[in-house]
Formats: sequence, C-alpha cells, structure tokens
Amino acid sequence: MIVLKRVLVLLVICFSLAGCTSLGQKTAKVNDRATKKVENHKPAPLPQKEEEKEEIPQAEPVPYNGPIEHIFFHPLVVYPELAFDGDTMAQGYDEWFVTVSEFNKIVESLYKRNYILIKMSDLFEEKENNGKKELVKRQLMLPAGKKPLILSVDDINYYPYMLQNGNVYKLINNKDGKIASYSKDPEGNEVISEENEIVPLLNSFTETHPDFSLNGAKGILALTGYEGVLGYRTNQPTAEGESEGAKTIIAKLKEEGWEFASHGYGHLATKTISLSTLKRDADRWKKEVEPLTGATNIYIYPFGSSVLPNDPKFKYLETLGFKIFCSVGPNAYLSYTQEYAMMDRVHIDGMALEKQRHIVDRFFDSSLVLDNERFKYKSN
Ligand SMILES: [Zn+2]
Repeated sequence: MIVLKRVLVLLVICFSLAGCTSLGQKTAKVNDRATKKVENHKPAPLPQKEEEKEEIPQAEPVPYNGPIEHIFFHPLVVYPELAFDGDTMAQGYDEWFVTVSEFNKIVESLYKRNYILIKMSDLFEEKENNGKKELVKRQLMLPAGKKPLILSVDDINYYPYMLQNGNVYKLINNKDGKIASYSKDPEGNEVISEENEIVPLLNSFTETHPDFSLNGAKGILALTGYEGVLGYRTNQPTAEGESEGAKTIIAKLKEEGWEFASHGYGHLATKTISLSTLKRDADRWKKEVEPLTGATNIYIYPFGSSVLPNDPKFKYLETLGFKIFCSVGPNAYLSYTQEYAMMDRVHIDGMALEKQRHIVDRFFDSSLVLDNERFKYKSN
C-alpha cells in the first residue's frame, strides 16, 4: 500500500514538474493538442488536490550540532475510567501514563515548535575497525530551523495488568493493512482503532506532516520479554502462533521506521540487582526477544536505573552488543566514546504534566495538554 502510495506521489510530482518545464515556447503546441483532445473527449479533471498537497522543496539540509532531545512515553490510556478509577493501580497510572488526548496535543505542540523525529541510527552507526565494532557519531543533517527529537515508548508489551487498566491489548494489522490497536472497551466491545495508541497515531501524523519525520523516523519501542511483546504472549512456549503474530507486526513496524530496544527481560533495576541476575536477565532477553525484534544496540534501563561504564554489569551488557544506554533525566544529555553512548530521556507522563511542568515547558504547555478525564474519576 505504502509503496503504491509513494509511487503515486512520485508520479504526481513528476507530472507537475514536467508541467513546470513545459512552460514557454512549448506551451502553445501542447495546448493546441490538448484543445483538440478536449473537443472529442472530456478529459478527467486534473488531480488538483494531490498537486496542492505537494511539498514545497525544502532548502538543502544543514549540519545540526545542538542538543539532542529524547522523550519517552508508556502505552496510552484509552479508557480513563479504568485507569484513574481509584483501584490499587490508579496512582501509578496517574503518574506514569498519558491519555490519547494528551498525546495528540503534545504531538501538535512538538510539531509547531519545529521538532523533527529522528532515528537513533541517524545519530550513530557502527563501523568495523581492526575487527572491532566501533560506535561512530554521524553528522546529523536537518532542514534549517528544525530541532531533532528521539521518541521512545517503554513497556509496549501490554502486560495483563494493562488490559485491566485502560490500555489497549495488542498491535495488529487492520483490514486496510495498517497498524492498529486491538482492545475491549469497558463494556466488553472489541475495538480495532488507528487512533488509540502511539504507533498508529504517529504513523498517520507523519503521513500528513512529513516534515515531522527525518528519513521516515518514528520512534523506539522498548520491550521486556516476561509477558510477551506488543500483546503477543511469546513468553509462553505453548502459545501457538504468538511468535508468528509478533514477527509479522514487528516486520511491518520496522518497515514504517520504528526501531527496537531492550528494556531487560524481567524489568529489573540494573543498579540494585546482582551481576549474576543481570546476566541471567539479559541473556534471556537475547534468547527470547531478540529473535523477534532482530539485533539492537540500544538498551533502555528499566526504572531508569542506570550503571556506569566501569561497572561489571555495564561491561556485560556491552559484550551482548549493547552500545547505546538510555536512562532518565530532565535535560538533553548525551555523552559518547567509540565504545558506547549514554543518553538521558525526559519522562512524559502524568507526573511531569501535573507536578514537574518546568521540565516539559520546552516541548509543550502542560496546562493546555492535561486531560480533564484524569480528575473526573480521581475525585470519586
Ligand atoms: Zn519500563
């Protein structure tokens, strides 16, 4: 579908460019022919709308050397009445999640403030040097005035607790061949939607706002493994078809510009667990999850619980091929060597929206973003 669309867009662009070059002396002749044709056959109307959509060619991209912002979300709250209902999970939901409406407003604001999504692979590549893989920082080239933004989504596993608390259940391909979410609403009706989760929402926003994405970039999906991935229970060896389902959707996600990261297998705090536990956990991720996602060099610390490069746990993760380590922090922090990079991410969640507005001010005005639905159920 997408390929077909691209071909169509290309054809439209080629058509209109050809139109531009035929101005001048050639015009009359072309018009004569066209007039003759008009007399006999009423031509189909020109694709005016398609042409209007055509982007004005951007000026040459310029080198960008400023800060690299990285923000992260959790899966979206689709049913606030389940999330903020006063049960034992409600406080966690209020602090760590945003709703669909909040996410949409945040994206609008990011776009208006000239952020542009980039891939981690736009920033770093790995190059072989004397038999050793080195991390090389690439020169980022952006349209003038744009500010780079990496976006990640943690725990997009759809743990069983999420299904009870207002998130969607899984990512699927819908009947139009597009990525959508599947869930059941509080009344038990099945809902397949392109408007209930970050993945389909960003897919469609970047389609209508191509200048919000560099080279088709979307975001990084950070996955654990202990309860499967993306709603597929790949952790249960007996669950037939789950791995195939996960692989199909992952292939599609990659095609659409999504990248993947390890978020540990069991969501353990790297700083506090023992080296042997970390090894067991990381090995299990490599064994169970990597065959689904393919190799990744990005490690996103569960709980933002990070370790330093001289720590044996850090060194062990390096032996597994991880080179880019992401933690949590309020500012755009990035440091790197030829061996590894360390990057902080800003948490975009209820806590930031309600209590730490100053750290998200540069992205959006949280007073305009906050969803009243949060308070509606909380006060009950
Ligand atoms: Zn997490």
